Amino acid sequence: MNNVTDMFGNMVFNLKVMQERLPKETFRKLYKTITEGTTLSGDVAAVVANAMKDWAIEKGATHFTHWFQPMTGITAEKHDSFISPTSDGNIIMEFSGKELIQGEPDASSFPNGGIRSTFEARGYTAWDPTSFAFIKDRTLCIPTAFCSYGGQALDKKTPLLRSMEALNKQAMRVLKKFGNREVNCIKINVGSEQEYFLISKEMYDKRKDLIFTGRTLFGAKSLKGQEFDDHYFGAIKPRVSEFMKELDEELWKLGILAKTEHNEAAPAQHELAPVYTTANIAADHNQLTMELMKRIANKHGLVCLLHEKPFAGVNGSGKHNNWSISTDKGTNLLAPGETPYENAQFLIFLAAVIKAVDEYQDLLRISVAYAGNDHRLGANEAPPAIVSMFLGDELQRVLEALENDEEYDGFTRNIMEVGVNALPKFTQDSTDRNRTSPFAFTGNKFEFRMLGSSASISECNVVINTIVAESLRQFADILDKSENFDETIHKIIQDVIKKHKRIIFNGNGYDEAWHREAEKRGLLNLKTTPDALPHYMDEKNVKLFTEHKVLSEEEMRARYEIYLSDYSKVINVEGRTMVEMVNKDILPAISAYTKELAKTVTLKWEIGVPAVYEAETAKKLSQLSGDIFTKVKELEGALCKAKEISDSAELAVYYKDNVVSRGEELRELVDKAETITSGKYWPYPSYGELLFGL
Ligand code: ADP
Ligand code: MG
Repeated sequence: MNNVTDMFGNMVFNLKVMQERLPKETFRKLYKTITEGTTLSGDVAAVVANAMKDWAIEKGATHFTHWFQPMTGITAEKHDSFISPTSDGNIIMEFSGKELIQGEPDASSFPNGGIRSTFEARGYTAWDPTSFAFIKDRTLCIPTAFCSYGGQALDKKTPLLRSMEALNKQAMRVLKKFGNREVNCIKINVGSEQEYFLISKEMYDKRKDLIFTGRTLFGAKSLKGQEFDDHYFGAIKPRVSEFMKELDEELWKLGILAKTEHNEAAPAQHELAPVYTTANIAADHNQLTMELMKRIANKHGLVCLLHEKPFAGVNGSGKHNNWSISTDKGTNLLAPGETPYENAQFLIFLAAVIKAVDEYQDLLRISVAYAGNDHRLGANEAPPAIVSMFLGDELQRVLEALENDEEYDGFTRNIMEVGVNALPKFTQDSTDRNRTSPFAFTGNKFEFRMLGSSASISECNVVINTIVAESLRQFADILDKSENFDETIHKIIQDVIKKHKRIIFNGNGYDEAWHREAEKRGLLNLKTTPDALPHYMDEKNVKLFTEHKVLSEEEMRARYEIYLSDYSKVINVEGRTMVEMVNKDILPAISAYTKELAKTVTLKWEIGVPAVYEAETAKKLSQLSGDIFTKVKELEGALCKAKEISDSAELAVYYKDNVVSRGEELRELVDKAETITSGKYWPYPSYGELLFGL
């Protein structure tokens, strides 16, 4: 199939297929469920299930699965076939409404943070009709949420859906105040740009660190890195281009709007950006994209690395979360409008975001806090760990005028009287072209840039949706009581600017001076995951999530435990992998090479020839291997002592202070040894081979 329009979405049970295959009345009811969230009755579900099954079988599917996103960060599926025995010893292909709506994966081994004890270990999956079913690997995949029998969320999707509802509710209150009677609901739009590395599978297979941890734990810098900027947007290599072509096609078949593919800054680094779509669908699509990247890379003899920092010394990979809200009528609420009312409305939504980001800096930081991302944030390749907002000079001037009751371009005291053209349309060029801001306004959306490449985008969108919902709730409460709408709107915006302008920073976020300035402004600087996570359970955060019914305190506590233990597990595996690599491969290699050098020294000595290089190198390597041996024993000891700590927050801090730092020291020694050891003896492919080997 070569025609992209034919291919697009041909593996998706989308509205077009539904309309073709469902009785009119069933379609109408399902459509209402999809667009307005009404519940679907059992008999309607049965008709939908049957049509879905027939469609899937025609497309070659034999199985179905409830596809969900447990707290592991990857997706889970358990396949059941459609077959069902008949009394005469044959089979029929069956799929009931009940099987569509609810599933019971035996899911006792998924992380639950202590929510479920094993006697009630079974969770259930519930159909999310707003995200279309699709066929992957001859299996009909039904996007679902995953909950315990008590109804507690055990996945990343449930809170996302709840946060979307919370934001919808509060945004609608505010929109009604502005007299938007024709709007039924808002839409939350997300487009996530995904960075990744591609390397040769053959070389990958030779590196235990890549296999077990997704990143290189050792590796002397390559002679060439990204200093020439010659890879960025450079010509794509044939093998990579084949991969991208197949990836695009497979994504298109699943209805994923893969749009741009290009090389990124680091050698072997690339990026894929889809066209934005509704938040929960964007989250599903990003998970599928990551999964397909890995699978398709393998088919081409490649490995796709999604880790935030696969290689030291060159850029790591991030993910930009572009976020906006619009009405169901298509008005983007983060774009200035044509009328004074629309402009005031824009400013109110803008104010809601400013207030939200300032008040919940900690939650935004936490939503991107995990071991892999600690290598990026603040490392001059990604925004610092300090959360701030970029608005651009033009918008900045508008806000300053508002704050001080001054005039701006015909903009008068009362913003509801602002002339039609008073608010400029912000083109992306007039907004952000510097990439150092964590939370940048880019014309008609916000771009949150702290995410790491491997993470699900759910967590940060749960936070963004909920904190903006909270700002809007407060605004709506004030407006409910107000007698003079125009004046109140003006006051709300002005108050927000006065109180929260410290979060706005339009300069270079990589600059050391900004870190000092941010401290003066009282902004948080939570440098590492163990620094950030404990704030999750702060009273104000528990209040936020529980009041908006996004997470209960019990669910939060469970998540908190999972985040902490994820961190400790990652550092533990990295530490153990280092120990094994050093003991089994690196020290023996250095020793063997030293032996060869020593032998040569003796031979040369016998015939009276100087052996300066051999003797000095052998000496240096012996010294280094001794230091490495001491350091690796220290690391082993530190790993061993970790077993004595039972408190999970304490353990995470312990790993950071004792294992991470020792690992870095060990690496330094090993990398030094690599640079003077013969390539023939070094047990692993070098950075040069990994990064430039394709
Ligand atoms: P860049 O950030 O590299 O300049 P683009 O401007 O092309 O890239 O946009 C990046 C992402 O932002 C894409 O996924 C795009 O679909 C998404 N995007 C564009 N407009 C919106 C919007 N209004 N709401 C949410 N996402 C959007
Ligand atoms: Mg971007």
